[in-house]
Amino acid sequence: MSLKQTDNEIYGLLEKEFQYQRNTLRLIASENYASKAVMEATGSVLTNKYAEGYPNKRYYAGNQYVDQVEITAIERARKLFRVGHANVQPHSGSSANIAAFFSFLEVGDKFMGLDLPHGGHLSHGSPVNFSGKWFNAVSYGVSKETEALDYDEIRKRAIQEKPKLIICGYTAYPLLIDFKAFREICDEVGAVMMADISHIAGLIAGEAYPSPAPYADVITTTTHKTLRGPRGAIIMGPEENAKKINKGVFPGTQGGPLENVIAAKAVCFHEAMQPEFRVYAAQVVKNAKALAEELAARGLRLVSGRTESHLVLVDLTPKGITGKGAQMALEESGIITNRNTIPFDTRSPFITSGLRLGTAAVTTRGMKESDMEEIASGIVKVLESPNDSELKLRTRKEVEELCNRFPVY
Ligand SMILES: *Cc1c(COP(=O)(O)O)cnc(C)c1O
Repeated sequence: MSLKQTDNEIYGLLEKEFQYQRNTLRLIASENYASKAVMEATGSVLTNKYAEGYPNKRYYAGNQYVDQVEITAIERARKLFRVGHANVQPHSGSSANIAAFFSFLEVGDKFMGLDLPHGGHLSHGSPVNFSGKWFNAVSYGVSKETEALDYDEIRKRAIQEKPKLIICGYTAYPLLIDFKAFREICDEVGAVMMADISHIAGLIAGEAYPSPAPYADVITTTTHKTLRGPRGAIIMGPEENAKKINKGVFPGTQGGPLENVIAAKAVCFHEAMQPEFRVYAAQVVKNAKALAEELAARGLRLVSGRTESHLVLVDLTPKGITGKGAQMALEESGIITNRNTIPFDTRSPFITSGLRLGTAAVTTRGMKESDMEEIASGIVKVLESPNDSELKLRTRKEVEELCNRFPVY
């Protein structure tokens, strides 16, 4: 029986979500629209299969096709990211990071990551997360003046703290990361270099952002952000770290892999190898730059001064509105964003002074620089009059018109 026949309640909600995704502007930097092919693989018969272990070394019988799927995913990931080894089993970015930590650290070991309010991820040492509870997490920040990474400061901090592992790769950092500088710092203090490219993986695959592959000991990434695949993650590294990485995932931190999602990851890697994906990645960055410039021209302050990626972080202070207020007013206008702390934020993470925007999803719809100008104009109008219901209704109509010009699915 179809979903509609079996469970009309969930079917109805999915139908509503589908229309909502079509008719709103999705500017959440970590979101995208996966292809129909990716979703078809995710919803496939592989949902039914147990495959604990790795290809040709399974703990269950009946994996002849499953093995071919997983091997294909591994080979494609290795080729796409130019790495010696890929593990395609992690269920999510956080699971990948747990596994990577278990591969290279003992519980209680010291590691260093970017402070959460400065753009780090929860799993990079936040005290409320496994990373901060089970490990001795110390942090580095961005420079107060430039709001950019200061590699001399990071080096000094690393020499002081002597962490066993250093993470680079972030969740709200708009600039390029100097992966070579991190390699040099790690070599100097004898630390493992871990790059978490969750946000920028699609840009790296499309050669619109430098790759940590020549430098990092271990690379983790989600597959559902700029990479535009299914919700999930992978871990990569040089061939010599293959055993360690695999053990960290299974049996270290996971049981049976989600082979349906692994099939979808393989499809996503195939799509990302096509020439069109390179054009896409370049356009994502062009659109982010256009959006940033227009927002700045209309009076918002860009954190770090500019963007060099898919992501724009704005300081709302000049407009006298909080991140929470901005997120809500924009949501009512059909513009979906998320509030975000900015470095040295004086407000709590629940309120925040910043708003994070990303262009991965709108670029998948086919939008270009001129559309970003239109979007920036709409955003700023709402931020200047967040209580004007008529304006929000009007903006919502305009958003729907824009979305209709760039249909998805
Ligand atoms: C999104 C993200 C993660 C976590 O991914 P989930 O799939 O949400 O667990 C980890 N690290 C970074 C840098 C991220 O941006």
